[in-house]
Amino acid sequence: MFERYTEKARRVIFFARYEASQFGSPYIETEHLLLGLLRENKVITAKLLSGLDSVEVIRRKIEAATAHKEHISTSVDLPLSNESKRVLGYAGEEAERLSHKHIGSEHLLLGLLREASGFAAHLLNEEGLTLENARKEIATWPPEAELRGATGERTVEIHGRTFSFGYILKASRASRDFTWIKREWKPADIVVDKEQGGICFDVSVADGKRFQIQSGGWTKEPCAVCDWQLEAGDEGFTNGRRWICAECYHRFIERNDSGGSAWEST
Ligand SMILES: [Zn+2]
Repeated sequence: MFERYTEKARRVIFFARYEASQFGSPYIETEHLLLGLLRENKVITAKLLSGLDSVEVIRRKIEAATAHKEHISTSVDLPLSNESKRVLGYAGEEAERLSHKHIGSEHLLLGLLREASGFAAHLLNEEGLTLENARKEIATWPPEAELRGATGERTVEIHGRTFSFGYILKASRASRDFTWIKREWKPADIVVDKEQGGICFDVSVADGKRFQIQSGGWTKEPCAVCDWQLEAGDEGFTNGRRWICAECYHRFIERNDSGGSAWEST
């Protein structure tokens, strides 16, 4: 369902799911989409809201309005609430109104404002932003899908690090031939070579002399796409041999309804 989404818009959904789980909400509500959006699109914050103060105010209001519940594990795929589903529908319509091929985070903002009964629209209105103002302003912006990195080379940000688009494309394509299963990463046993000092994952060579087992001795595992280190308790995806961090999996590997991952065309 997200094949027309820009990478930024997908990240909004990714972060919204994360926010919902942190609030212990069983659904991704419009306010979670809003938090994801404010995190992902700083232009909206700077141009349509009064900067970081607005973001703080909005977050505090959401916290105040949310009954405190237990966090839900991020491994649970929380569904969108009905309001949030309508927001995505409206976002698609707003992209069409502007003759934009892709659905970007700017269209998600318009979708949030159109879902007038949603908490997000209420919060945005309280910050002085209306649907009409936002539509007028966004109509003057280039489509998000056409934006490139400042140097002209397209870049991708993962865990706060910037990668070239080409590098991630290659790394993620190489991973798509596999089936990736969601798992919690746990330290692995290794064998330490007492003579030569190396380590080995094949614990069958352990002999208690030269090759000694070190239980849980492998404490970090790099993501096969972005090299981010998974540690004990982190959720990741594995093909039984290698691991991919949850962010890379959801953004670059996960297949959509049409069987392909369309992020590279956005
Ligand atoms: Zn990764």
